[in-house]
Amino acid sequence: MPRAFAPTVPLPDQRFRPPMTEQRPSREEAMEAVRTLIRWAGDDPTREGLLGTPDRVVRSYGEFFSGYGEDPVALLQRTFAETNGYDEIVALRDIRFESHCEHHIAPIIGKVHVAYLPNKRVVGISKLARLVEVYAKRLQIQEKMTAQIANTLDEVLQPKGVAVVIEAAHQCMTTRGVHKPGVTMVTSRMLGAFREDPLSRREVLAMIGTPGGAKLDNV
Ligand SMILES: [Zn+2]
Repeated sequence: MPRAFAPTVPLPDQRFRPPMTEQRPSREEAMEAVRTLIRWAGDDPTREGLLGTPDRVVRSYGEFFSGYGEDPVALLQRTFAETNGYDEIVALRDIRFESHCEHHIAPIIGKVHVAYLPNKRVVGISKLARLVEVYAKRLQIQEKMTAQIANTLDEVLQPKGVAVVIEAAHQCMTTRGVHKPGVTMVTSRMLGAFREDPLSRREVLAMIGTPGGAKLDNV
């Protein structure tokens, strides 16, 4: 169940739009919408095998879209300054994620690689994974998700550089439409030193792997 939250920094765009609780349909309305889609598909929502489906779909949606109820800025707010002078790249590779494309509500499954060059402050590594999760558990397009993760890290940690690379398979492309399995999409966003300095960029790309070169084995 999404909870309302107060944004903790000024919002330059729509990233932290809180859930519109007043306009949120009731659970029963959501279940009725699922029954409508079942009828639209050509089946009978009152037959035994489908009776429990609306309830299960609505519960799944609670899980798939739990990111609307979480504030990604608040998540990163607790940082650590005690780094003993560590000022090299911090990278977390192969963060698996499951999201849904906002055009077809079909799964997007892939991996995120996140790196930053600290400026005195670091954040717990589990927080990086949680940040990915918050944005993945919303209706997404891959380009937007890449930018959201990078921009949030940049704004909250104010590091010297941020790099985010996402490789993902889009089921709206593999199971419908053009039916092209095995295709992965790669997006990246580089900020600060990783954008401006070719050496730093090369260093971070070497750490997080060549975009597109990694295999999406487990998706
Ligand atoms: Zn799609």
